[in-house]
Amino acid sequence: MKRKGCLVVISGFSGAGKGTIVKKLMKQYEGEYALSVSMTTRQPRPGEVDGREYFFVTKERFEQEIASNGLLEYAGYVDNYYGTPRKYVEEKMAEGKDVILEIEVQGAKQIKQIFPEAVLLFVTTPSAEILKERLVGRGTESEEKIAQRLLQAATREAPAIPDYDYLIVNDELDECIAHVRSVIESARSAPMRRRDFVAQFMKDLRSFAEREARKPEQV
Ligand code: 5GP
Repeated sequence: MKRKGCLVVISGFSGAGKGTIVKKLMKQYEGEYALSVSMTTRQPRPGEVDGREYFFVTKERFEQEIASNGLLEYAGYVDNYYGTPRKYVEEKMAEGKDVILEIEVQGAKQIKQIFPEAVLLFVTTPSAEILKERLVGRGTESEEKIAQRLLQAATREAPAIPDYDYLIVNDELDECIAHVRSVIESARSAPMRRRDFVAQFMKDLRSFAEREARKPEQV
C-alpha cells in the first residue's frame, strides 16, 4: 500500500544554520524529500530567485491568498508576511513524499494543530554565545538587525522550543544532517504516522481470522 508523506517542520534561530542544513539534506537525499517554497512579502536579497527561495509577492497578493484559503499557514515576522502555499504540500504528501517546511515558530504551531502527526524539529547552536558570534560573524546584518534577531530569539523563539518534537544542536554540520535524517526516518515508523497501514493490516487480518474460524474442522 502506498504511504502518505509526512510533514517535516524545521525551525530554528536565525544564524543556527537551518537553511544550510535543509539545502544539504535535499542534495544528499535527492528526490526523497519535497521542499516547500514559501510566499513572502519581503524584498528578495541579492542572489535570491523568485520561485526558488521564495515566491516574492505584494501585500495585496498575499492577502488574496489568505482570503482564498491558498495558504496552509502564515505568520508575520519582522514587518513581513510569510506563508506556505497549500497546493504543493498537499499534492506532494498525496504522492507519498515527505515535505519539508522551513518556517518560524508561529507557523509551526499552526501546522501542528492542523496536522498533529507533523514532525517538528528545532535547530539551535550549541550555546547562546555561539549564536551571537555566528550572527555577528556573518557580517551580513547591521548591529541593529542583529540585536532585533537576538531579541526575537530570546522572547519568541526559545520559549517555543518545548513544543517541538526534536532539538537539533548544530555543532558539526555533517553530524547534524545525519541526526536530522535519522529523526525523520524514526518518526516515519511511529504508528501514528502509519495509520492507513495499521488500519488496512487490521482489516485484512480480521477477515483472514474470520475465514479460518468458519472452516469446518479437519478430520
Ligand atoms: P528570512 O527572511 O530570513 O528568509 O526568513 C525569516 C523567517 O521566516 C525564518 O525563520 C523562516 O524560517 C521563516 N519562514 C520562511 N517561510 C515561512 C513560511 O512559509 N511560514 C512561516 N510561518 N515562516 C516562514
